[in-house]
Amino acid sequence: MLLDISRLRTGVVDVNRQYAPEAFADLKDDFRVVGPTGVAGTVRRERGAAVILQARVTSSMEVTCSRCLEPFTVAVGADVETRFVPPADFARVTAETAVKAGAVETGESQPSAEDQVIGLAEYRDGSIDLGEVVREQLYLALPMKPLCREDCKGLCAVCGVNRNREHCECQQEWVDPRMAVLAEWKSRNEKTKG
Ligand SMILES: [Zn+2]
Ligand SMILES: [Zn+2]
Repeated sequence: MLLDISRLRTGVVDVNRQYAPEAFADLKDDFRVVGPTGVAGTVRRERGAAVILQARVTSSMEVTCSRCLEPFTVAVGADVETRFVPPADFARVTAETAVKAGAVETGESQPSAEDQVIGLAEYRDGSIDLGEVVREQLYLALPMKPLCREDCKGLCAVCGVNRNREHCECQQEWVDPRMAVLAEWKSRNEKTKG
């Protein structure tokens, strides 16, 4: 999934890559890529060794619902804009970016168009690893608490059925154990009285 940028000199070059889900089969995580994954946009050389990738990343991944434990699909669509620099420049550019951001924050300088670029990453051996770009977006798109639907009813805590699909007669509300003891005592009391 490498994008060769070693011959990129001036101008803007289109990037249009499609990957089958199998390309991400090695990801051992809470999700699985299930649909075609695309990276579409442009790449251009900035002054010096820096290269800017501006692209839309699309994919779809299967995650597990945190309530009913059923798998469902999440669509991924994200715009990325990242400046790639060779490893030798990475530390320097990171420091410069921080200084500039600080100056903009304190009002000492105006943000230039170039500063609007959000991401900063490294490229190696004259290539950008688009697989890495995609993986980052997959992780960012991963919901903190995945829900197959907003009103997922989850699993019955008593009998374990999926309450979205099946109805059960189990008592669902949580009973405070102290209240349960009191209720039991009351009903026993009533029985002795009766
Ligand atoms: Zn669910
Ligand atoms: Zn039940």
